[in-house]
Parts: sequence; C-alpha cells; structure tokens
Amino acid sequence: MGTQESAPLDVARLREDFPILSRTVGDDTPLVYLDNAATSQTPNRVIDIFGDYYRGYNANVHRGIHYLSQEASIAYEQAHDRVAEFVGADGREEMIFTKNTTESINLVAYAWGLNELSEGDNVVLTEMEHHASLVTWQQIAKRTGAEVRYIRITEDGKLDMEHARELIDDDTQMVSAVHISNVLGTVNPISDLAQLAHDHDAYIFADGAQAVPNRRVDVKDLGVDFYAFSAHKMCGPTGVGGLYGKKAILEDMEPFLYGGEMIRKVTYEESTWNDLPWKYEAGTPLIAEGIAFAEACDYLDDIGMDNIQAHEHQLAEYALSRFAEFDDVTTYGPGLGEDRSGLVAFTLDSVHAHDLSSIVNDYGVAIRAGDHCTQPLHDRLGISASARASFYLYNTREEIDALVDAVDAARELFADI
Ligand code: PLP
Repeated sequence: MGTQESAPLDVARLREDFPILSRTVGDDTPLVYLDNAATSQTPNRVIDIFGDYYRGYNANVHRGIHYLSQEASIAYEQAHDRVAEFVGADGREEMIFTKNTTESINLVAYAWGLNELSEGDNVVLTEMEHHASLVTWQQIAKRTGAEVRYIRITEDGKLDMEHARELIDDDTQMVSAVHISNVLGTVNPISDLAQLAHDHDAYIFADGAQAVPNRRVDVKDLGVDFYAFSAHKMCGPTGVGGLYGKKAILEDMEPFLYGGEMIRKVTYEESTWNDLPWKYEAGTPLIAEGIAFAEACDYLDDIGMDNIQAHEHQLAEYALSRFAEFDDVTTYGPGLGEDRSGLVAFTLDSVHAHDLSSIVNDYGVAIRAGDHCTQPLHDRLGISASARASFYLYNTREEIDALVDAVDAARELFADI
C-alpha cells in the first residue's frame, strides 16, 4: 500500500529516461510494455555505464596493479557497497554478486544445503514459490534425504501462517519463502517467518526478486539470513544479481564455485579462501554489470522507493478495478485495497492465456502468459496458465486502458469463432 510520505511520480519525465519506451512494434503500433516482473527497462544512465566502462577503464579486477585494473577494481568493489546499502546490508562483505536470483538461491542450496542437510531434516517452502527456489530446494533435498514441506496458501492468495506454525519445527533447517509472489502479488510476512524459523534455530532465505524493485527492503529489519534479487528487474542490466548473507554465516559456509579470485593461498595439497564476498565470486566476475547494478540503485533512490511503491500500487488498484468490470475475467491474489505489488495475473474465460497474450501483442501490449515458473501454484489455483500484466515506475493508467481494450478485442475475436 502506498505510504503517506510518497509523492506522485512525474511519469512523462521519467519515460524520457527510457529510449525503448518510445519505439513502436509490429505495424507502427506504440509499445505498451507491461512485462516488468519478467524484466524491467533500462534508463540511459545505466546503459551509459557500459560505454563508460568499455571505453574508459575495461580491465580485470583484483589481478593487476596497473591504472585500469585499479580503477575497475575500485568501481566494482564500491558497487558491492552501494547494492548492499540499497537493501540495508552491512557493506560489501554481506553482498555477493551472482548471475541472478536463481544463482543466488543455488549458491546457498549447494554451499550450505548439500553440506548441512541430511535425513530427518526438513526445508519449509511456500506453495507460491518460483521454480528458482522450489526446484532448487527439491533437488538438494533429494540428494541429502531431507524433506520439503510447503506452507499452504489461503483462498485469497495469502500465506496460511497457522499452517506455517505447524510445519516449522525443531527439524527445520531452512525456511525459504518468496517475499512477493510473482503471480499473486502477495506480500509475505517475512519478519514473522524469520521469527518462527529462528525460534527453531533454522535459517530463513527470502526470494526478493519481486520486492527489491518495487519497495524499500531492509534485510536487517526483515531479520533474514539470506536474501536474493536480480538487477534486470530493477532498471539494471541482465547477468547480475545480489545475494545478501549474514557475515557470520557466509564466513562459516563452504564456497560454491572454486577457482581463481576466491582463494587466498593455494598449494598442490590445500587451498584457503579469500575474504568476503570474493570467496563466493570465483573467476572473472560481472564487472560492468556490477557497476551498472549500483547505478540502477542510485537511479531508483533518486526517484524514491516509497514513491515507486505508491505509484505501482495505484496502477495495480486501477487494473483490478478495470478487470472487475467484466464477469469473465478472474484476477488472482489479494484484492482491491490490500497490500500487493504492481502485478496482476488474470484469466479470461473464453480465451487461453497464450492466445490472449498473442492477440494483445497485435495491439502493441506486451504481457506474459504461461505458468510464470510456478507450475505447482497454477495447479493449486486449478488453472494451466494465466496472463500477467506487471507495472513499473514508467507505466500509466492509459496503458492499462490499452490493455483492457486489447483484452476486449480478444474476447470479440473468440466470440466470432
Ligand atoms: N523469484 C521470483 C519471485 C521471480 O519472479 C523470478 C523471476 O521471474 C525469479 C525468482 C528468478 O529470477 P532470475 O530469472 O532473474 O533468476
């Protein structure tokens, strides 16, 4: 829900930062980009980082004492501090750069899970996990003999916290929960889950892929042990993501990948590990991407995360109210007036989600259709697929009207078949 301190966004001005938004698609149709939960667009100042880096100071980090390497190393290290600060972590030692949210989850699952889990242990997930978390923990559990448990969702798409209290017990080693569902838009009570996990000496991992782009996140306030997110969903580039981990835990854990960069001393018999976070960043890292990630944080902070959250909330409310005009449209997740993120998954009775997204595409409207990497959740909802419109700081009500008109057109087209 919008916060009281938020100010309206000057969307027309902000759109000028994103050259891609003024392009046309197909038959010279203006682009209406409503697929931001998959990947957001990139503002000029983040794009410019790549030109600056490759034209100005491209060099490998931590491997040379020449000027370029020093400049690249400093920029790359400072980028860790900046991204850490953005989510409330205590500096670079608690912020590992990975490829994306998926790799951040895999890093912990492999480095911690494979070593620590065994038969008799359990890992508690939610029914609304993205495959990035669900498949990863499921596979690590299979290899270690641990059990995977799922916290139920209620009819209105929230977590059943009563069930969470039943499932999390003294054999629980990890609770891994999505902070904001990429289908339902539900904002999960991560602090409550963290408390429950810690009461049973378990760790908590939150998947923040849909939260960090859209609202102020403070990992210390949330009380999590690990937290994952991706730059490409928050005005940053593809190819880089963040993993927050509590320093003491990261120090204890084994590395995930081995090789250069992550070592301190190597002999033919033994190796020791580098300081945090480099211990978890083997090989040449994502240098330009990491620096651009930090620039994206600056960009979002300049706009104000509270303002972005309020704007998205208004758009989600508007979309829900427009869809409520139609008896044959079903929306999923918390309804009007509730705390939810700026995405709306929906189905239209007479048209399959894939056909729907293909027809609205003819009208220049980009939405996503399918299971959105949540097949078990779709089974649970009793549907094979849904369409999803997801909004960001540069979207407008007029674009939601364009979507609703395009959905109308799809309905009419199928009525004639
Ligand atoms: N978790 C959630 C909730 C997501 O929405 C996504 C992306 O759609 C992911 C994880 C995976 O993100 P990535 O593909 O950047 O690893």
